[in-house]
Amino acid sequence: QKRLGILTSGGDAQGMNAAVRSVIRTALKLGATPFAVMEGWQGAVDGGDRIKQMGWSDVSSILNEGGTVIGTARCPDFREKDGRRRACKNLLDHGIDRLIVIGGDGSLTGTNEFKNEWPELVAELLEAGEITKEVAQAHPSLVIVGLVGSIDNDLVGTDMTIGADSALHRIVDAIDNVSSTAASHQRTFVIEVMGRHCGYLPLMAAVAGGADYVFTPENPPRLGWENDMAEKLTLGREAGRRESIVIVAEGALDAEGNHITSQDVANVIEEKLGVTPRITILGHVQRGGTPSAYDRWMPTLLGYAAAHEILNADPAKPANILGVRHNRVTRIPLIEAVAATRNVGKLIEAKDFDAATAARGNSFEK
Ligand code: ADP
Repeated sequence: QKRLGILTSGGDAQGMNAAVRSVIRTALKLGATPFAVMEGWQGAVDGGDRIKQMGWSDVSSILNEGGTVIGTARCPDFREKDGRRRACKNLLDHGIDRLIVIGGDGSLTGTNEFKNEWPELVAELLEAGEITKEVAQAHPSLVIVGLVGSIDNDLVGTDMTIGADSALHRIVDAIDNVSSTAASHQRTFVIEVMGRHCGYLPLMAAVAGGADYVFTPENPPRLGWENDMAEKLTLGREAGRRESIVIVAEGALDAEGNHITSQDVANVIEEKLGVTPRITILGHVQRGGTPSAYDRWMPTLLGYAAAHEILNADPAKPANILGVRHNRVTRIPLIEAVAATRNVGKLIEAKDFDAATAARGNSFEK
């Protein structure tokens, strides 16, 4: 009987539970034995009861819960070879050589390195007498499938990452709440949102929340944005708007590639318009709460596909990520997706913003 493990790693994201539930139940249906590796890679490094066999009802009532019930962690041990050797040993102790990993590009990169290193780790464990020859021969390679869990929607190759839609809902709710108090007092608010180096959350939140102005990493404001923003806010008020809302990405940049903070934006508003804006940094509320309907059904479809993929994949072939493209589950070579994502970061660093936006490959196809 085939044994597989599932783990969630890196930053938590709403909808990870839907994927976990779907993987486990599909695996059971297909006659395989699923295990949850608790607390991300830490569970694999620690082993023992951190690697738990899962039954149908172990994933009951988690579909509508935020975060990840099997835990996640940033695991420094896994960055060291010794940690990865222990992870390999612990997985082998449970007969696991198939892993579905749900995480961001960091976790997926680490996972791929682990896959490449697996034969070497097995050989070392055999040499050290920690595993038998039978075990080494039975598990010569590691099969992995990646699912992208990230509220930032920052992986090139999938239209949506697990958690981004729920985070966007949280942000838009917050904008609505702030807007009503802002309108009552005719105030100006600067709202800082997450997304790291990706402008998806701030941009879509600005469109969906009816903001006056938005700052993103990929599309910095032109030189002289200070006057432009002041003019736009003034025009809004003249046209009868009672509130002004400016969205600032946590990773916002100016045309020279310098970080623009929400305080910078507030200072400019104060200086140009003579009003003191309120700054609201949304922070971790964006990751919290129940997953949206989309972040339940989409990861459910991905989990179903991932369980099939992991049980049928050729261990000799490079690993894939499963994502969505045009509302269809799609398979993306892991290395290509991670390399393309890193490339966007490099283009932003090099201030080649048009190329970075194009390389994001978002849904607006010509
Ligand atoms: P995310 O997956 O959300 O991008 P991180 O980049 O923090 O988050 O990665 C999460 C964990 O994945 C790290 O704490 C580490 O255990 C593992 N990891 C990330 N990159 C590597 C790597 N290059 N080699 C080994 N493990 C890695």
